[in-house]
Amino acid sequence: MKVLVVESSRFHQIMISQIFNNEGLVVRIASNCDEAIAALENETMDFVCTAYHLPYGLDGIKLAQLIRTAPKTKDIPVILLTSNQIDNSFDHAYHSGVTEIYNRSNITTLSKDLKRSIQTKRHEINASVLFIEDSKTVAAMMTKQMESMKMVVEHFFSAAEALEKFKKSSIEYDIIITDLLVAGTLSGMGFVREIRKLIPDRSKLPILVISGFDDVTRRIELLNMGANDYIVKPIVKEELVARLSNLVTTKQLFDQVKIQQEQLYQLAMTDQLTGLYNRHSLVQLLPKYFSHSVRHSTPLSLLVLDIDHFKHINDDHGHTKGDNVLRKFGQLITANFRSEDLIARYGGEEFVVIMANSPHDDAIEKAEQLRTHIESHLIEGLKVTISIGVACADNNSNFELMFNQADTALYHAKDSGRNQTITFSSPEVVVQ
Ligand code: GH3
Ligand code: MG
Ligand code: MG
Repeated sequence: MKVLVVESSRFHQIMISQIFNNEGLVVRIASNCDEAIAALENETMDFVCTAYHLPYGLDGIKLAQLIRTAPKTKDIPVILLTSNQIDNSFDHAYHSGVTEIYNRSNITTLSKDLKRSIQTKRHEINASVLFIEDSKTVAAMMTKQMESMKMVVEHFFSAAEALEKFKKSSIEYDIIITDLLVAGTLSGMGFVREIRKLIPDRSKLPILVISGFDDVTRRIELLNMGANDYIVKPIVKEELVARLSNLVTTKQLFDQVKIQQEQLYQLAMTDQLTGLYNRHSLVQLLPKYFSHSVRHSTPLSLLVLDIDHFKHINDDHGHTKGDNVLRKFGQLITANFRSEDLIARYGGEEFVVIMANSPHDDAIEKAEQLRTHIESHLIEGLKVTISIGVACADNNSNFELMFNQADTALYHAKDSGRNQTITFSSPEVVVQ
């Protein structure tokens, strides 16, 4: 991508060239207006970046005017560089065709902006498009344009057919483009309305409407109806490209943000060592279990599990070994309980299980199953035992109450020799 830098000062020529080169831009230099015009005659440039003051009486604004009026160069953006403060006094520059004005002190920002707009200009967007257009000529032109931008286009002549396909398809389209007036039973307007019923969120699926009319009322109507943007026929390629990239880029950025949010949420909810829920997420998820139990009058049990003398494992075999035991223990709990049970690492070597739909006997049985499995198998080559406290919900139960009950039971289990399961309701040893 080439930038023509029009600048009389040798010092500024070198400085600007270096900054642009660093962004991967190819730089051509002209020292005055005539040289700039000659350079533009010889080579195609993507941008012109000109100083405000140029020698021989012609300034950057005059150059912009010349560039904008010559048919060959009229579409080349012209950036004006000035050392002055940019205020209203520059309004006439825009009227003369200057695209943007930058202060010299912002030259690095300019080069980054240029690079970004060059990328946009290249327009390689990996996107899938659902496209409705009943005119063969327009459809062919637009499809060609979009395919040259690496977009995958699925074209329909009728909106009803497209809607049918949209409902059935498993493809996640990045954009929908529809003609406003299409032949058939369903109009472009109707189509937009139907799509917005299915996907109300405009950032999730942008819609670009192609309209034959260019009046304000119609445009407002379109936007109110759920279109993100519109383009008026006859379609100007560059405008189509610019609008398409805006819509698709925003949509794809939005998707990325959503994925990142989801990942952050998962990260915040998960205990990094065991992959189980952490204490924070346990508190978040609990109400669902309690309200379900109350609403359906189903029993609910809560278990607190704690590894016996875990401190010794760390002391005798090192912290890393301790970590591995915790990880393995996490896996064993997960394997022992049902997927609808909520399993969380509550703290250090203490775990909580909420057993939905489980009466007291069930909870004891499951707890004992795990405890006896652990006492009879080595974990990471070590003999490990656990103690378990159990509490069962009654009508007035809440998490704090149940947790305290199970914790009290656990305390008794520890106090009376460890490696056992005790329930709060009958604080006696169930199995030794
Ligand atoms: P008790 O049978 O009474 O439960 O004795 P204990 O040694 O298991 O219990 P205590 O609460 O005295 O010690 C727990 C130890 O667990 C202390 C702490 O350093 C260790 N611990 C806590 N979190 C981790 C962890 O993430 N990794 C490792 N390796 N150790 C941890
Ligand atoms: Mg312990
Ligand atoms: Mg402990």
